[in-house]
Parts: sequence; structure tokens; C-alpha cells
Amino acid sequence: MKIELDAPNIGNLEKRYVEKCLDSSFVSTYGPFVPEFERKFAEYLGVQNAVSTQSGTAAIHMSIYELGIGPGDEVIVPVLTFVATVNPVMYVGATPVFVDVDPKTWNIDPKEVKKAITPKTKAIIPVHLYGNPSDMDALMDISNRYGIPIIEDATESLGAKFKGKYTGTFGKFGCFSFNGNKIITTGGGGMIVTDDEKAAKHIRFLINQARDTGKGYYHPEIGFNYRMTNLEASLGLAQFHRLDEFLEKKRKFREIYEEVLSDLKGLQFQKEYEGAESSWWLTSILLEDNIPISVEKLREELKRRGIPTRRIFIPIVEFPPYRKFAKGEYKNAYRIYKRGLNLPSSTVNSYESIRMVAEQIVRITRNA
Ligand SMILES: *Cc1c(COP(=O)(O)O)cnc(C)c1O
Repeated sequence: MKIELDAPNIGNLEKRYVEKCLDSSFVSTYGPFVPEFERKFAEYLGVQNAVSTQSGTAAIHMSIYELGIGPGDEVIVPVLTFVATVNPVMYVGATPVFVDVDPKTWNIDPKEVKKAITPKTKAIIPVHLYGNPSDMDALMDISNRYGIPIIEDATESLGAKFKGKYTGTFGKFGCFSFNGNKIITTGGGGMIVTDDEKAAKHIRFLINQARDTGKGYYHPEIGFNYRMTNLEASLGLAQFHRLDEFLEKKRKFREIYEEVLSDLKGLQFQKEYEGAESSWWLTSILLEDNIPISVEKLREELKRRGIPTRRIFIPIVEFPPYRKFAKGEYKNAYRIYKRGLNLPSSTVNSYESIRMVAEQIVRITRNA
């Protein structure tokens, strides 16, 4: 059976919902699936408002925009993340302030966040990397003490919890993604959750071309075309019904990997903070120096056996538009990038194939 890294899991329920949507002919920006998806999503997370968007990137962009952040303002971000965490900071003309991550959890280090705060800091964007919750106790503490809002990049961590509370529900805004490789998909899409009713209402207006629908085609502000379509929401709602099934499977994958790889000396897993329950969107490992194989070589050997893997994100300050923002060495992020690896975690895989993948890793690294 083919091993998948992060392929979506689409079944009959999805086909039924999408077909129902097609039959209704409400495929675009009107129709019942959008509000229903939003309502179910908010209910699940226990938040007051959920606003669906065209992507996770759009969700982050609108959160930053709603806070009125612009030129001269600073936003603190982890250096180890997907570039879409940071691009929206640039869209509004603000300055990203990159900080290093914790070597064990791979998430933004609250101690480094504290050091990076200046009078210009207008937001902090922690990323729950690969589904693993950030230290929300420490981060909320900083947020409250300094009065700096948090926008959670929960695009990889739907269903993950920190001390019993879902990621995405701690900060002023929580942003989710339904890209094809995320835990649930709408093909492409996102969601913003917030308990701030007024902000939610304004974002809903902004993403609809800032159209004052009461006055027809009247636009008192510059808006965006960032709405989710009903067709996307029909797929999303079906996927959302299966979220718990997907979470259970991802967590079991992680257990299998740990069980099989546990006696490999020098092989580490991305770890949880105390009280965190990761979704393990992607199970990820790190090879310590006593394992004498490069990550590229391990990938190549696995690929020859039909096993796809993915490199850890390149630290953002490596990219030309972001080089000038580098401050310091980012030792932990670079080490994780150089020695870390994402393993097959798609829920279309069987438990047996995940066990086989783990066994192959043992074999390859032992013979290295
Ligand atoms: C996927 C992702 C995003 C962006 O989501 P899209 O829906 O692809 O726009 C942002 N941040 C992180 C960390 C992601 O993994």
C-alpha cells in the first residue's frame, strides 16, 4: 500500500455533502454550509465567534489588520515556522521580530519573547508547530502583563489542547487552515475564532469587500475578497464531522512511532509541554549527533523504500525578504532544521504501514 505523508482523507460523507451542495447550485459565497460550518466549529472549540476565510494566511492577515497594525509596529514571531505565519506581517507593512524556539517542543520560547518586547511591539504570533501546543501559560502571562495581544497560528493544531483548552482559543484571535495537507480540509480555506463580537463582525465585513449590504454595493472601507465558498464549506463540514476520528488516528501513529523507535539511542521526538495534548498533525523526529547519518541521506533511503518524508521548515531569516530582520543565531531553530524530519502522518495510512515505516527507520539508522 502506498504510504502518504500528509494526503487528505476523503470518503463517502464528503462526497455526499459536496454533491448536496452542487445539487443546490449554491456553490459560491451564499448558501447554508458556510454558517453551519462556522457554528459547529465555534461550538466545538467553545468560542463565541468563528469567521471562515479563503485560507489560513487570510485568517492571519485579517487578525493583524483588525488590530490596526501597520508601518513602524513590531510583531514577534518564531523563526521556525511556515512562511505564511510571517508574510501577513509584511502585507500590513509592519516589522517581524524573529525569536528562537525551544529545543524540545520546537515552539516559540517565551523567555526569548520577553527579551524581544519593545514599546513598538503590537502582537505576538505563537505557532503550535506540527500540532504541538505552545506554552500558553507563559505566553498569556506575557500578553496580560504587557498588554500585547496574541494571535495564535493554530493552522496546524486543530483539536490540540493546552491544560484542557483548545489551541486557538487563548489569544485575541486564533487562526486555522483547511489546506489540503492539514488535519481537515476544504480544498483551501481558513477560520478565525475570537470572543470579541465586534472584531468578528468587522472582519466578516472586511472579507466581503467591506460591503455595507444594507446599502447595496456601498463600500465605506477598503475590503478584501477573502470569503470561504459554500462548496468549500460543504467539504469542510463533512471533514469536521470526522475530526475526532482523524485526531485519534494521528495520536496513535505517534504512539506507534515512539514504541518502535524508543530503543534507538539518539533519536528524539518533538516533545509536548506539561499539560499539552498535541494533535500530532505531523509526527517529527530529531537525530542527535551520535546517529551518523544526514537527514538528506535518511530521506533518500526512505524514499527508495517508497516512504515520503518532509524536511523541517527552513528558518524564515534564510529567505531573501527576511534576511535583514535576523537578530542573533537562532541555534535551536537551525539545529532542528538540520537534524529534524517530518514522518508520514496522513490518516489514510494504516497502523501497520506506520509500524513498517518506523521499522525501516530503525534499520536504516542502525546500518548507517
Ligand atoms: C498552513 C499554514 C499556514 C497557512 O495556511 P493556508 O491555509 O495554507 O494559507 C500558516 N501557518 C502555518 C504554520 C501553516 O502550516
